[in-house]
Parts: sequence; structure tokens; C-alpha cells
Amino acid sequence: MELKIIESANKKAKPSGALGFGKYFTDHMFVMEYSDGKWHDARIQPYAPFSLDPSTAVFHYAQAIFEGTKAYKNKAGEVRLFRPRDNFLRLNDSGDRICIPPVDVDFVLDSLRKLVLMEKEWIPSDEGTALYIRPSIIATDNTLGVHAARNYIFFIILSPVGAYDAHGPEPVGLYVEQEYVRASKGGTGHHKVAGNYAASLKAGEKAVKMGYDQVMWLDAKEHKYVEEVGSMNIFFVIDGKAVTPMLGGSILPGVTRRSVIEFFKSEGIPVEERLVPIKEVIDGIVSGKCTEIFGTGTAAVISPVGKVCYGGKDYVVGGGKMGKLSKLAYDGITGIQTGRVPDRFGWVEKISEE
Ligand SMILES: *Cc1c(COP(=O)(O)O)cnc(C)c1O
Repeated sequence: MELKIIESANKKAKPSGALGFGKYFTDHMFVMEYSDGKWHDARIQPYAPFSLDPSTAVFHYAQAIFEGTKAYKNKAGEVRLFRPRDNFLRLNDSGDRICIPPVDVDFVLDSLRKLVLMEKEWIPSDEGTALYIRPSIIATDNTLGVHAARNYIFFIILSPVGAYDAHGPEPVGLYVEQEYVRASKGGTGHHKVAGNYAASLKAGEKAVKMGYDQVMWLDAKEHKYVEEVGSMNIFFVIDGKAVTPMLGGSILPGVTRRSVIEFFKSEGIPVEERLVPIKEVIDGIVSGKCTEIFGTGTAAVISPVGKVCYGGKDYVVGGGKMGKLSKLAYDGITGIQTGRVPDRFGWVEKISEE
């Protein structure tokens, strides 16, 4: 397929001051459409609203998927992508779960590289900042019938984002949710399906109202095993080992999660992927066996946990500070992403020539 490029005639002013997350969007976006059984009309075009009929399928039945990855620029002006192929492979997996046709991974990767290079000036280079990349596919049939759509729009938008915490990662407080669940086996929890996030909002609001930052999710069936935190994967350091819930059909297979596992193994740190009972975690915090907890995801990379609320009681982890392995993972992964640390894994793709 050919990629058409339509340059914007009205370039926006770049934001000044705090970037926050997902507040500003660049001048261009990638778009292609699906109809008559194929993707077509791939183009990089000026960033603009879509005009969609009120009957459009995605508005009613949430047939929509998305991805999230980042481009990093260092002070020397080098631009890097971190394992971007993994995101498009996962996009196709998510699509398969809710009957969205797959995209050509090589083609969209190539289009993404072109788009990011076109928007190079928008990529911030301060410590902790990046250009967040949001690919999405939405169903666009104009009918209220409940069935897999025959028409879709795929688009990629870009947003310069600030450091998650201005002074490096700050430990967060978690509320262990025992009423609502995020995902159940056989559902859509291990795919980046838009509806999952609507389903998680109420518990998130409840946690914030109670003074915590994020929800720690338990399994849907027994409310016994830890699954994720907010929209991140979760790691525990128990007896010096890095322990993370195994992927079992309701946990999102994070690219950051996989990277932390590979990174720790290469550092000689034992890693266990298994069921993690909440009881083991709480008992471990009390006895001093569980010394660190952290979340992993593209947005924050590593988010240390300082406090966990379970059954109405607060438990402070690792003195409420970021622990040693959390810091090792943070420095290792962000170092590779930005080029500060040599990439011995082949994860990073440098897309600029400077
Ligand atoms: C995206 C996401 C993650 C993290 O995945 P990354 O690929 O590391 O960004 C974890 N859990 C949920 C529910 C997610 O949506």
C-alpha cells in the first residue's frame, strides 16, 4: 500500500510549561480506513476531528482497541522507539479478540517512523519526557445491529508528555479493591480493548476518594490473587526475588513487564511468574519478607508503591520509599529507552541519523 503525505498548512505553537499526559497533540496524524475487506487510503494528514454519524458502531458497542508506546529524544537529538513491533503485534491480538481485522505490522511500523520523524520537533528531550504514541482502531459501521463491523478507521496520534513525577518516580498508595473487578478469564482483560477502561473507572474514583492513587486489582473469581495495579502490571520483591502474577487470561501482557523480566534475569535476579495471593503480600509486608512493590507500564515505566490499603488497614512497604530493585529497573529500562545505557537486548530502534 502506498502512504500519502498531506502536510499541514497551519502548524500549531508547541506547548510551553508542564506537558502533563495526553493534553497536547502534534500537527499530523496517521489514518487509514477499512472497507470491502481491506485497509486502504493510508495517509499522514493534518491532525483533525473525525465526523461520524451518531449511529456509528463504536459509540454504542465499544468495538475499539488501542495501543500505547513512546518515542524518546535525547539532548543530542537522537530519536528512539522502544520495541514498537510488540505494540502492533499486540494490537492485532486485541483486534482478533473483538473481531477487528488485522493491520500489516511492517507497513504501520514504517508509517509510524515517518510520522514520528515528521513531528521530531514536538518530541521533548528533558529527563522523563517523551512523545506518547497512541494507535487506535474504531468500528465505523452506521447501524445499531450488534455484529462485528465491516468498516473501521485506524489512526495514530502523538502527544508530547511530561515526566510522570518531576523529581523521579514518587511512591504511590494502592487501594486493594475487593468489590469491583477489572477482568475475568474468558473476557477481554488481557487485550487493550477500550471497554476495559470504562469498566475500571468506578473503582479508580473510589480509591482516589479514599486518598489512594491507584487500585490494586484482585482476580474476579476468588478475590484472592493479585492481578494488576491501575493500568499497569505489578511486581513484588519477596525474599530478594522479583515476583509477578503470571499471565493467565485476565492480565495485560505489558511490554514493560516483559522487559523488566528479561532485564532482571540478565542481571542475575531471580524472577518468578506465578499466582500471587494478596495474603502472602500483606503477611510479607508485615514480616519484612516483601520489601518492594512496583507497577510497570509505558506511561510511568516503573511506579514504586509506598503503601497498600487492604481490609481497611494501611501497610507501608519498604519504609514508603523506592526500593533497590525498583530503582535498578527504572534506571535500566529508561536508560535503554533514551540511549543513556547501551541496549544489549536489541529493544531500541534509533530512527534519526544524528
Ligand atoms: C497497557 C497496559 C499495561 C502496561 O502495558 P505496557 O505495554 O507495559 O505499557 C498494563 N495493564 C493494563 C491494563 C494496560 O492497559
